[in-house]
Amino acid sequence: MVLERSSTSSVRQPPKFQMKIDPAVHQAVAQFKMPPELVFGETKVPVMYSAPFANGAWGGGTLEPYRPLQIDPAAKVLHYGVEAFEGMKAYRGGHNRPHLFRPEMNWRRMNRSLARLAIPELPREIFFEGLDAVTDASASLIPTGRGQSLYLRPYVFATDASLGIAGPATSYLFLVIASPAGAYQAAPMKILIEREFARAVHGGTGSVKVGGNYAAAFLSSQRAYEKGLSTTLWLDAVTHRNIEELSGMNVVFVIDGELHTPALTDTILPGVTRDSVIQLAADLGLKVHERTVDIDEIVDGIHSGRVSEAFACGTAAAVLAIERLVESDGRVHALSKSPGPIADRLKAALLDIQEGRAPDRHNWMLEVPPIAHS
Ligand SMILES: *Cc1c(COP(=O)(O)O)cnc(C)c1O
Repeated sequence: MVLERSSTSSVRQPPKFQMKIDPAVHQAVAQFKMPPELVFGETKVPVMYSAPFANGAWGGGTLEPYRPLQIDPAAKVLHYGVEAFEGMKAYRGGHNRPHLFRPEMNWRRMNRSLARLAIPELPREIFFEGLDAVTDASASLIPTGRGQSLYLRPYVFATDASLGIAGPATSYLFLVIASPAGAYQAAPMKILIEREFARAVHGGTGSVKVGGNYAAAFLSSQRAYEKGLSTTLWLDAVTHRNIEELSGMNVVFVIDGELHTPALTDTILPGVTRDSVIQLAADLGLKVHERTVDIDEIVDGIHSGRVSEAFACGTAAAVLAIERLVESDGRVHALSKSPGPIADRLKAALLDIQEGRAPDRHNWMLEVPPIAHS
């Protein structure tokens, strides 16, 4: 089942507030010192956007210097994990103004995540106001080198100061923060096949982007790290045979030169990168199969050589090669090509569009307008 809410929901549209801009924003950006090395997600631009939801409606947004939040110790997000988020990027390399990549998909997905948590719909105007404001204010801090960008993190969480669980929360905060992102330098990944725990169940929250999914995955990540591996490959919770995805990225296998990726179900997060890679593969004349992918087929195929490549896709890394799958007892299934030529071609095709070197044939790039000052 896919939760899709029509735009004519019962939530009142926001009054057309003028966004408040704290004048200290400009000084915060001017004084910001970029660290010599960018570690993904560590450095944050010194501005943030927020908009509250209370009394049945979203209120006006504020752009201000990045600061700690004050929330009540009983805030529902802290106890019941009422939080949903997005991850997306703005690119400045190759463009005059920063451009967002397929942001409409993130807005739609965010609203599917919110709906699943019984959180009111976030209007398009507020989502984009937050992204545009943070991106424009920090445009001078977006690195422009190959593979570099501004990683944007829009998120919503419940602020109700109540430990009660009789019904959903009634007050929320929408925030946008951002992190300048260097080229993702990670080596091809070594991945733990998780045959004990499950990330998602039918009817659960696996196909929406909520913090709780990650909370449930970190013990497996820890086991992977302890073995020197990068992350977990999740299998379905019922049969423990069907490949689903990685903890924060979708997965694709190259079998006999064609792409095979798990078909989307309600236990797989529909990645914007996955969708884009499938389109780009078709553009390049590659066959793509979205289907049930059995772990035994992949393990056998790796050893017979039919599975020549495997890679992950997600916003942070774009396309990232997988070098080996590893069992919890240490047995290794090593891919013959890593990074392989198909992963390399798809990554280049994607970055070329994002960084303005290739024509944007699918209209994926959206220019960020300057902040409207009153
Ligand atoms: C965000 C995410 C992805 C990747 O989605 P993109 O839109 O491509 O960044 C994949 N799997 C999970 C579990 C995710 O949370």
